[in-house]
Amino acid sequence: MRHFAIIGSGPAGFYTAEALAKAFGDAARIDIIDKLPVPYGLIRFGVAPDHQSIKAVSKRYDKVADDPQVRFVGNVAVGEAVSVEELRGLYDAVILATGAPHDRPLGIPGEDLANVVGSAAFVGWYNGHPDFADLAPKLDGANAVIIGNGNVALDVARILSKTRAEFAGSDIVGHAIDALDESGVKSITFLGRRGPHQIAMTPKELGELGHLAEAVPAVDPDDFPPLVEDEALDPGMRKSVAHLRAFAGGPPDGTKPKTLAFDFFAKPLGIEGDERVERVLVERTQLDGARAVGTGETYAIPADLVVSCIGYSSPHIVGVPYDEDGGKYRNDHGQIDDGLYCVGWARRGPSGTIGTNRPDGYEVAEQVEGAMPPGSDGGKAGGDALDALLTTRGVRSTSFDDWRTIEAAEVAAARPDSPREKFVRHHDWLKVLGH
Ligand code: NAP
Repeated sequence: MRHFAIIGSGPAGFYTAEALAKAFGDAARIDIIDKLPVPYGLIRFGVAPDHQSIKAVSKRYDKVADDPQVRFVGNVAVGEAVSVEELRGLYDAVILATGAPHDRPLGIPGEDLANVVGSAAFVGWYNGHPDFADLAPKLDGANAVIIGNGNVALDVARILSKTRAEFAGSDIVGHAIDALDESGVKSITFLGRRGPHQIAMTPKELGELGHLAEAVPAVDPDDFPPLVEDEALDPGMRKSVAHLRAFAGGPPDGTKPKTLAFDFFAKPLGIEGDERVERVLVERTQLDGARAVGTGETYAIPADLVVSCIGYSSPHIVGVPYDEDGGKYRNDHGQIDDGLYCVGWARRGPSGTIGTNRPDGYEVAEQVEGAMPPGSDGGKAGGDALDALLTTRGVRSTSFDDWRTIEAAEVAAARPDSPREKFVRHHDWLKVLGH
């Protein structure tokens, strides 16, 4: 028998469990450990609440969890309840599937001012992550600035722009939809330090900005290179740029009260304000090849809220070598050390789609398989020993059946136009379980 511990129950964790279960068959026991009592990681807490079709991938993960070889062990914070070193003693392989939950810092003055928030926090707030349930961003001002030109920037802008009616069918949490309903935000500016040809926004997501009930995107036509240069772009990027060109098309639509303005070639230099953020100082840039270089021209943009959407990093773990530049664990094709692996964003850094994690998980499972031929026994104690250890430490873990109980309670509590009302605090989840 081989025993595997996967730390993190997001897409990378579930795909790796699926791959290990297939590779080892009955000869493996796989524990997916999560610090939260509920599973799915990025699917539940990262993917936008109005993108339910993307979230539906969790149904596939449920099938993995139903496999008798696989266990969900929630409410166990690795690093607190048990260390990675202890897990390495109990399991044949430990696979870090922790994702990249931390915001990368901007590294400019003023980023600690009130109402300057990172996207992990802001997205966590509207998606009901317990760490950010009390974030309470102030939405009373008219001007919001979003730093970054990626898909997370699009998510944040769309959530800030939508009306209550447009959230029908979503599982945005109650505290967020109520706050957004009262929002005074009218002008949202995307700051991109490079140009329209360098965005990291995908076409489907960018196109959604053109169909909002009360908000209209705006792009300065002078920001584009000559049309002929679009032909050299890959097809996805060409479609995205076509959306931007359409947004730059006509006169501003005066019938919609909110604008989503793209400010390209704009590098944030600093954030200023007294009690809280009031403006972002920006330097105009120009391209030197694909690199943005400052021109020396500076200006200020009024900002009552700043959301920085510039990427994420994985958490540091004692004893695990870390690549500071990449914000991920140092690894060779997923292997960190004997019996220690990483997968997904913890391995590659925060890029790609959810589907990218599937081949990634399968590749790491192959590495594990190569290191321990099926049929061999590593003599490790596995999940039973983990359970015993947790009991001695007074840690009460949650199972996938517990999650089903919580899920049923969230569905029962749903608003009329929502699939569920997520509980956002540990004690609310555990109360459902009678803990
Ligand atoms: P991202 O795609 O890496 O975009 C980060 C953006 O931040 C880039 O425009 C980057 O500009 C900019 N940036 C980085 N550092 C900056 C700085 N110091 N100052 C100003 N701008 C800076 O990251 P993301 O948006 O967080 O998305 C993470 C991953 O999740 C991506 O693969 C994304 O596609 C995926 N995702 C997908 C969906 C979806 O499919 N619906 C939704 C959300 C996220 P430069 O290019 O100049 O570096």
